[in-house]
Amino acid sequence: MNLTNLHPEWKVEKIEIATLTGERARSAGSNGRIGDHGKNCSVRIARITIDGETGFGHSGQLTEELAERVIGMRLIDLFDENGRLHEPYRIPLEYPILDWLGHRQNTPVYNLIASSERASDSPLVVPCYDTSLYFDDLHLQNESDAVALLKEESEQGLAKGHRNFKIKVGRGGRHMPLWEGTKRDIAIIHGVAEAAGPEGKIMIDANNAYNLNLTKEVLAAVADVNLHWVEEAFHEDDALYVDLKAWLQARGQQVLIADGEGLASPYLVNWARNGVVDVLQYDIIHPGFTHWLELGAKLDQWGLRSAPHCYGNAFGIYATGHIAAAIQNFEFVEYDDISIVGMDTSAYRVENGLFHIPNKAGFGLDYDEELFFSRVRANGWSR
Ligand SMILES: [Mg+2]
Repeated sequence: MNLTNLHPEWKVEKIEIATLTGERARSAGSNGRIGDHGKNCSVRIARITIDGETGFGHSGQLTEELAERVIGMRLIDLFDENGRLHEPYRIPLEYPILDWLGHRQNTPVYNLIASSERASDSPLVVPCYDTSLYFDDLHLQNESDAVALLKEESEQGLAKGHRNFKIKVGRGGRHMPLWEGTKRDIAIIHGVAEAAGPEGKIMIDANNAYNLNLTKEVLAAVADVNLHWVEEAFHEDDALYVDLKAWLQARGQQVLIADGEGLASPYLVNWARNGVVDVLQYDIIHPGFTHWLELGAKLDQWGLRSAPHCYGNAFGIYATGHIAAAIQNFEFVEYDDISIVGMDTSAYRVENGLFHIPNKAGFGLDYDEELFFSRVRANGWSR
C-alpha cells in the first residue's frame, strides 16, 4: 500500500466494538468432524475513528489494553515501511483501518491493494461458489432421498446466482457407517453435479475424514464429474499427498489438491512448492487480510493458487472479494448466504457464478449506527 497519502498528523481517536448477530438462509448440518452448524451467526465488528472519520470492519482478539495503547497513536506508526500493518494490529484492527482508508480516499479497498496488472477503473468481478452443502441429510435413511435433498439445496443456490458448489463429504468418517457414508458421498456428488450442469465446478471437502485409499475410491467413482478440487481429504501429510498426486497424474484425472485451513501443517506451503498441493486455503480472518496480501504474492510467484477459507464469518465473504484484486491466481470467494442485522451488504451481488464487488468506498458495507451503538452498550465496549 502506498503510504505517501497518510498525513503524519492523523491519529486514532476512538475505538468501539460490538457483536452483531444474524442468520444463514438455511440451517447447516454436520461436516466430517463436528455436528450441526445451525443457523445462527455473529460477527465482531469494530468502529475506528481517525481524524474525525470512521471505518468499520471485523475485529478479532482486540483487547481493551490494545485499544488503549492505540488511542492517540499516529495512523502512520501502525504501518511498517512496506505499507503493511505491524503484526499486533492486523487481526484486531486491519479491517476497520482499511475501511477507513477507503473512505478517506473515497475508493474501494480493492483499489488500495490491487496488483499493478489490474486496470483501476474496471469493475471487480470474482468467481464464487456456494459453500452451503453440509450433511443436511443424516436424518434420511434412504440414499436417494439424501441425494434429492442435496440436489434441491443446490437448486436453491442456482436460483441465487451460483454456478459452482462445494460439497461436504466424509459422512463415513464419523456420522455414518464407513462404507454406507462413503457411498452416499459419491451419490450426492453425482446428484449435485447433475444439478450444476457441465459448466458448474464442483469442489469436495472431507474435513480430514477420509484416508488416502478412501479418497482414491471416491475420486475414481466421480471421474465423470467436473471436480475442481478435493479439500482436506485427510490431515495433510507429504508422503500421502505425493502418492495421491502421482495417482491422479497416472490416471490423467485433473483434480486439484486444496488444503490449509484450521491447524495447518507449518510445512504445507513447502509441500505445495514441491508440487503436491495446488491450492492454499488459510483463513481470511485468522491469519487474515494483511497476511494474505503477503502470502498471495508469494503463491503467485510460485505458480500456486489462493483460495482463502471463509466459513462462518459473514464479514470475511466481502473481504475475500476485495483481496482478489491483489492475487493473480485467486480461485474463488467461499460464499455462505448470511444476513447480519445492521450490516447492509446489498451493494454486492452474486450472478452467474460471479461475485460483483461494488465500486463503493471502503468495504462497501453500510452499518446501522444506532443499532451498532446499542450493541456496543449490550455486548461490547468503547475506548
Ligand atoms: Mg474446508
